[in-house]
Amino acid sequence: MSQFAIFRHYPDLIYLDSAATCHVPDVVLEAVQHYYQQLHGNVHRGSHRLGRLATQALEQAREQLAIFMGAPAAQVTLQASTTAALNQLADHLPVTWQAGDEIVLSWAEHHANILPWQRLAQRYQLQLKYIEIDPVTGALGAWEHLLSERTKVVSVSLASNVTGAVFAVQPLLQRAQQLGAWTIVDAAQAAAHVPLRVTELGCDALVLSAHKAYGMTGCAPLYLSERLLAQLPPMVVGGGIVEQVSPLSASFIDGVQRFEAGSPNTVAIVAAATAVQWLTTQDFTQLQQLRSLLVHELQQRPWLTVLPSGENATPTVAFYSTEFHAQDIAIWLDQHDIAVRAGHHCAQLFLQHWQLPAVVRVSLGIYNTEAHIQRLLQTLDAGWALFSSD
Ligand code: PMP
Repeated sequence: MSQFAIFRHYPDLIYLDSAATCHVPDVVLEAVQHYYQQLHGNVHRGSHRLGRLATQALEQAREQLAIFMGAPAAQVTLQASTTAALNQLADHLPVTWQAGDEIVLSWAEHHANILPWQRLAQRYQLQLKYIEIDPVTGALGAWEHLLSERTKVVSVSLASNVTGAVFAVQPLLQRAQQLGAWTIVDAAQAAAHVPLRVTELGCDALVLSAHKAYGMTGCAPLYLSERLLAQLPPMVVGGGIVEQVSPLSASFIDGVQRFEAGSPNTVAIVAAATAVQWLTTQDFTQLQQLRSLLVHELQQRPWLTVLPSGENATPTVAFYSTEFHAQDIAIWLDQHDIAVRAGHHCAQLFLQHWQLPAVVRVSLGIYNTEAHIQRLLQTLDAGWALFSSD
């Protein structure tokens, strides 16, 4: 807690919404200030000192983010958000689409990993297929029967933003690659909690949002496999990526920089690199203990149901009550300075899959303590005692 300015401003706040966005440690705020005080210029076009310093800062940040992802820096491009990157991949993947081609997703996807594919499917009359989520374990269900020669893309999340379940996607991705499909991983929820080894996963692209890993919004490192890097055209075109322009066409630079037209969000990129370096020095084991405690305690309350998440889940827990609407629970908690999120969590299909209109999500960050869990439980109990019809 002491490393986070926000909690010095709000000492009574219990923040249990880190899956939406994490708060940034002071070390990241210092990096932001340092960048603007000493390094700021526009990158890749400076014939002067600050342009060079900013370029250096950006390229160093790329290297640090690549180490964090287990990837070569030459295969990591710096995008604005997971949402933007997934949209751009869907629009530019090197596939000659034929009506009836198939895209495989799972029911647990965030809207950011459904809507771009839906739009594409509507454009080319493609088929979307969804992998079931096991209602008992919360794990990824059978997928073998969904893959075929017609599968052109498999795009799945590594961890659920609702239940925290971490999905065993490696066999799925590897099989899909054998069939010639492009494989994409949404690691937005996994990044802060699951060690990333992108080159072992069998993915052609993997993206995460730095703001869910203790950095700022505006930076999403996107890993590209060698084969995708070789074939993917620039997804956004403009300044900074051009080799030669003629009135009717242009040629582009090689390498991941060709996906970074325009002025990048350099400060967010520098902040992201600082955040992931800091993150790897922190001990997160206490979060798993807090998660177990929370799940155990919630399960003792017959008026609450916890969604299954299986082994090794991220410290995110979803529950609902048949007596109270999830939004009412969140409002009650907010009145007691406890920040949780309620609703469909941009995963409407997932909740429909469970036949639920809304759930409460508690997601833990490094700044949470056992006292926070106890306060949450006491406040839930007090609400139950006051409003229950029992
Ligand atoms: N995918 C998942 C699994 C997420 O949890 C989120 C954020 N809630 C996103 C994608 C979208 O991330 P962003 O808003 O940073 O683009």
